[in-house]
Amino acid sequence: MTNLNLIDRISTMYRATFGDLPAHIVRAPGRVNLLGEHVDYNDGFVLPAAIDRATYLAFSSVNARHSTLAAVDFDQQASFSADSVPTKTQADSSPLPEWALYPAGVMWALMEEGLPVPSMNAVFGSDVPRGSGLSSSASVEMAFVLAWQTLGGWNLPPLRRALLGQKAENRYVGVNCGIMDQFASACGVENRLLLLDCRSLEWKTIPLPEAVSIVIADTTIRRKLTSGEYNKRRAACEEAGRLLKQDLPNIQSLRDVSVEQFNRLADKLPPEIEKRARHVVEEIGRTRQAKALLEAGDVRNFGRLMNECHVSLRDLYEVSCPELNVMVNIAQTLEGCYGARLTGAGFGGCTVNLVAREHAPAFAQELARRYESQTGLHPEIYITRASKGVELLK
Ligand code: ADP
Ligand code: MG
Repeated sequence: MTNLNLIDRISTMYRATFGDLPAHIVRAPGRVNLLGEHVDYNDGFVLPAAIDRATYLAFSSVNARHSTLAAVDFDQQASFSADSVPTKTQADSSPLPEWALYPAGVMWALMEEGLPVPSMNAVFGSDVPRGSGLSSSASVEMAFVLAWQTLGGWNLPPLRRALLGQKAENRYVGVNCGIMDQFASACGVENRLLLLDCRSLEWKTIPLPEAVSIVIADTTIRRKLTSGEYNKRRAACEEAGRLLKQDLPNIQSLRDVSVEQFNRLADKLPPEIEKRARHVVEEIGRTRQAKALLEAGDVRNFGRLMNECHVSLRDLYEVSCPELNVMVNIAQTLEGCYGARLTGAGFGGCTVNLVAREHAPAFAQELARRYESQTGLHPEIYITRASKGVELLK
């Protein structure tokens, strides 16, 4: 669903700022992951979908040294050029504001590839909530990669564009994310889930039955300093791989360890490392089952895998929090709910629920009501659907 109000807003703002109408408009969606959590950095499989919330970017090429960007959600402007980007500064030598690091990082990554990045005037805004695990950052990156492709006269396949967005976020912004977020925003297909092999980067789409809705529930909890925990989980997985290699010399990562092999060797691992690695090995096992189940339209058993995933993230990987558990526990008792789990890195943010379409509105209402009465927090609930990846609307 295109957000016409938001397009109107950025177009009006564009006109007020630059004096004419934008030549182009790009839409780049956020994403939600249905299964395969914390396995992207273990070479596993992930099963995200692009959602119907997106970043919208209005832009035109400009015959100037600098690109000038306005972010309507921050009510701020920034301007930078090929010369100022390497030092993360603006035209007037002041540092780039944090939000501008994402588009500037994209420019930097494209320049590193030797691709032309003509100057642009741009206004952008988004209805992807920020910092709640729906990848507002990747949607901003994918919007700008497509914008510069449109103006630069070059053409890269979606997956290559995703990799350049990831490079911008890893190496320029300094956030250690995997490829899933940019991939889903770049490659989304309407009404389909995307199954990505994070090792080979091969991917295929899987149909999501017509009669189910994806419901996202935001706990509104935002935990700071979670990157330390994230890095600890990554280190634990690497350590598990290193220890298991003594008995399984051919493995490259936990991806190569079957559940049977893991059960046989688990007691050779220190208890905490064992818990972390068990989540990864079993979660990869679940994603391997998902394809056949969904292709057979077996939403019920796919939903069970989502429920199992939540328990594993809560008890083995230990990345849940009380509010996420409350949200999941309520959801799993409501009519029409096939599966519910925390989604994204954890410690706050959102849950993802698969719900029979006819029950989705009542589910959303009741979930919000009970969550609020148990926690005193007012959650945001979005009934969403798998949507198209980044596209040029005009
Ligand atoms: P998320 O899980 O939403 O991707 P991140 O912390 O990775 O959370 O990215 C959020 C950051 O991305 C914001 O702090 C901001 O810098 C940038 N960003 C996201 N949406 C917008 C927007 N609408 N306008 C400007 N910057 C944005
Ligand atoms: Mg992000």
